[in-house]
Amino acid sequence: MCTRKNRRFAKLFSRDPKGSALERRNALPCGSQLNSSAIGRETAYNRPLGVKQSPSPNHEIPVESLREVGPQRAELLRGLGIRTARDLLEYFPRDYQFESEERPITALKHGEIGLARGEIVAVDFVVGRSMPRFMATLSDGIDELSLIFFNGGYLRRKLHPGLMIRVKGEVQNFRGSPQMVNPKWELVEENTAPILDAKLRPIYPATARLPSDLIERIIRTNLTDALAGIDEWFGSEIPRKRKLMGRRDAFGAIHQPTDRTEALHARRRLVYDELMLMQLGLALGHEAQQEKIAAQAMKIDKTLDERIRARFGFDLTQAQTTAIWEIAADLKRPRPMKRLLQGDVGSGKTVVALYAMLVAVANKMQAALLAPTEVLAEQHFLTLSNMLRNSRVNIELFTSRTRRQGHGNPAARLAEGKIDIAVGTQALLHESIVFSNLGIVVVDEQHRLGVQQRAILTNKGDSPLYFEGNKGGCPLYPHYLVMTATPIPRTLALSYFADFDLTTIDQLPPGRRPIETRWLRQSQSKEAYGFIRHQVAAGRQAYVVLPRVEDETGDDAKSVTRQFQQLSTGVLSGLRLAAMHGQLSTKEKQKAMDDFRAGRIDVLVATTVIEVGIDVPNASVILIDGAERFGLSQLHQLRGRVGRGPHESYCLLLADATTPGAEARLSALTKTSSGFEIAELDLQLRGPGEFFGTRQHGLPEFKLADLRGELDLLLWARQDATKLLEKRVKLNPALAAALKDQFGGKLQLARVG
Ligand code: ADP
Ligand code: MG
Repeated sequence: MCTRKNRRFAKLFSRDPKGSALERRNALPCGSQLNSSAIGRETAYNRPLGVKQSPSPNHEIPVESLREVGPQRAELLRGLGIRTARDLLEYFPRDYQFESEERPITALKHGEIGLARGEIVAVDFVVGRSMPRFMATLSDGIDELSLIFFNGGYLRRKLHPGLMIRVKGEVQNFRGSPQMVNPKWELVEENTAPILDAKLRPIYPATARLPSDLIERIIRTNLTDALAGIDEWFGSEIPRKRKLMGRRDAFGAIHQPTDRTEALHARRRLVYDELMLMQLGLALGHEAQQEKIAAQAMKIDKTLDERIRARFGFDLTQAQTTAIWEIAADLKRPRPMKRLLQGDVGSGKTVVALYAMLVAVANKMQAALLAPTEVLAEQHFLTLSNMLRNSRVNIELFTSRTRRQGHGNPAARLAEGKIDIAVGTQALLHESIVFSNLGIVVVDEQHRLGVQQRAILTNKGDSPLYFEGNKGGCPLYPHYLVMTATPIPRTLALSYFADFDLTTIDQLPPGRRPIETRWLRQSQSKEAYGFIRHQVAAGRQAYVVLPRVEDETGDDAKSVTRQFQQLSTGVLSGLRLAAMHGQLSTKEKQKAMDDFRAGRIDVLVATTVIEVGIDVPNASVILIDGAERFGLSQLHQLRGRVGRGPHESYCLLLADATTPGAEARLSALTKTSSGFEIAELDLQLRGPGEFFGTRQHGLPEFKLADLRGELDLLLWARQDATKLLEKRVKLNPALAAALKDQFGGKLQLARVG
């Protein structure tokens, strides 16, 4: 799925500057003669479009057959991933630079590529400690412009006072005077006509041997032919409604825009197309899958519903009840549920998941609950065991530890169907684990959404959880429920989980008080720890969270190891402390957790291992030392470790904000406790790519960081794709080809045409 093609498209979003500013600025060799015909160019976007073109085999033309490309350049182009004419067309500029018309020196603008002419009034050649440089002063009779040519020794024989030249280069400001470094130049006469067209020049991700100017020239020369192979993907309705330029226009304009507005419009159109492709691909893939696969339909009646609810010992919130209805409706169908259950920390998702699992058990099926960490798996196991005490439901924990200990061979009992609910980590996905009749899989992703498990979900066919209960016929799949405590902003959820149904729990169980959150500076750390002493004296417990386990040179972040020692002998002396981090053995971790849960420990000094799902109702303070180092959603997760019981709870952020980003995160936390607001804000601050943490597996690959300003496009694409598929119209052949190309056999090809 992650084909080269995707990466190529990703370049549209790419911003990383390859090649230095100098490289970009001056691609031609120093002092090479300026060729005015190459500067005055036709623009591609205004070429007549929409002319009926013959189908376009020319897209697969290898680069060496293109104009301006010989074997050597072809090799260099291939080094950039450009193999065909189409690749070249999809090699997008990462930026643009304005190239002005010829102007008097006084009118040259800093940062632009300027054109000016004048008489050389002085020259100098400097060989010093740095690179030898040839310097010239150009005067147009009113102002002067300094020219610097590094390694320009050869110019001593070419440029001398009295010559009239025209120069082109990026205008820099050197101590208040304009200057150009390594400009291009040409000799002019008094009556040489000025160059009067200004234009925006594309800047391509380049290398030293294949500079942007050269890429630009190759693309420009071949653009007309390549554009002929671009066909519109949609009828007139969508572009009109969304005010998007034509697809071919967009390809032309992104390479050769008249101005920045046009470049932006071109980019929006192409981003939209890319997002549409993803939306259509996901939806059609989902459709195809739905037609091929089946699940066991479950029965749910009033008696069962009441029996399960009675287990919980509290009334479900309205949001939980609604979530259960939605899930129950899915489970009754003979198609596998694929649902994302999102809700803030502590909103009661686990209870809802348990409900679904118990429905499966009542229907004589097994349930699996997958957690991201061992600690969390154990926690789930404990919670569920408690709720299922005195029931006939058999529940078992599967982690690498239980596998090592291996008493009673739980795997065998699972295979025989004697275990109803299996709780575990990835260990549950081990090939040796076989279910006898797996009805539902619940994946608790917490905030790690979209990384590993997403892949499992999309590759069910290859997954060990794949259950072939219905031999010979249509294979049976378990129902899937994914829980996440990172509320995903709706736009993103709809887009990235286009193939999932979405349930949101937007309400906390009654009696929860918002967690009082305060941001303190490092200078106030004594007060902060004093507050912990105070809470412990009142019978409560506390977490202290630090950014790292061990001290590291070159980083002044506090570590658990050091801070644990300092606190136990210093501000927190006399209290019962335990350390907890990922480098401890499972046994040590377990002991620390057990002791903390049982109240034998007052303060748990930990890394973020505690951020996922730890539930100790008596803990009322969490102090995050070095909070500026954590992401917003992560801080919110950490904060969710307290406020889980009847006690007034506090989150203390100890941080000296070092960046505006950190400042924004920390102050946001003190202002809102809504996970949804936090998620939206996090998205604004970091962009979707970062938001999800790791690259999305099993999804078309995008560089998302730049989508920040383009979420509207994402939403449009979602709406338009849905509508297009609902109408069951045959997709445009060019679009169908692109879909097939990118998604291949996973699609409902009959629909694609
Ligand atoms: P989540 O998984 O969404 O973080 P949990 O399901 O773990 O939330 O619930 C958090 C805590 O709230 C648990 O101790 C749970 O027993 C309790 N709880 C859940 N639903 C309710 C409810 N409707 N009323 C009271 N307490 C609830
Ligand atoms: Mg939970």
